[in-house]
Amino acid sequence: MPEGPEIRRAADQVEKALKGRAVLDLFFAFERLQEYEEILQGDVVEKVDTKGKAMLIRFQRGYTIYSHNQLYGKWMIRNAYNYPDTNRQLRLALHNEKKSALLYSSSDIEVLRTEEAEEHPFIQKTGPDLLSEPVTAEDLFERFISRRFRNRKWTSLLLDQSFIAGIGNYLRSEILFKAGISPSARPSDCSEEQLRKAAGASIDLTWQSYRHQGITNDLELAGQLKKQGVKRRNYRHWVFSRAGQPCRIDGTEIEKIQAASRRLYYCPTCQKHPER
Ligand SMILES: [Zn+2]
Repeated sequence: MPEGPEIRRAADQVEKALKGRAVLDLFFAFERLQEYEEILQGDVVEKVDTKGKAMLIRFQRGYTIYSHNQLYGKWMIRNAYNYPDTNRQLRLALHNEKKSALLYSSSDIEVLRTEEAEEHPFIQKTGPDLLSEPVTAEDLFERFISRRFRNRKWTSLLLDQSFIAGIGNYLRSEILFKAGISPSARPSDCSEEQLRKAAGASIDLTWQSYRHQGITNDLELAGQLKKQGVKRRNYRHWVFSRAGQPCRIDGTEIEKIQAASRRLYYCPTCQKHPER
């Protein structure tokens, strides 16, 4: 499943195609939504927000189209009415005079009044989105030590969209590595320094991944490795998907484990469990 940075990049594409223009024609595949084809026609798209893995297309007259791609949904941006050759099911189409934004295969689409969007069950239970909301490292630090989260394991917290929206499996391994946190630890096991590092890394790695095509490794190092002909999958991350290879800091073999049913990678030296 794509993570926050990939969703935000898709939202940027949709926003670029639609923002500031009137939508002249709409198509909803689901009958329950078809009344909105008329209601939204001629309305101008103000912006496109993300909330974790959901996308929110905001219209001037106060409506929001909510969509969640789950595993299979895919946005395609084309010149107006220039449909791609695909076997996917078209679920939503927004056309303006220049472009068509087409959503295929997603079944999770709704139209909400913007003022009620915050009460949508998904949005309500979703934590802060680092790429669409002004979240500081201090905010995250407070969240980590809050009664609600401090005694849960990091490995399940970092996949829980109510903790921080948009973090998924590769970011989980990378954040714990950057903060030097053992995959068996909970926030309450960590030093203040580790918690501050985890807060900074959550923000920095999410933004770096968004701006640099999913690269969470040190950008200079990644650049050097690329120049040497190293493949993308081998320079992209610090630890993720690098089982058996040497830690980039100290050479220890990176280990792979299952945590909260997903694969997790870590360096046993850099990420020792704290002494109790
Ligand atoms: Zn290491």
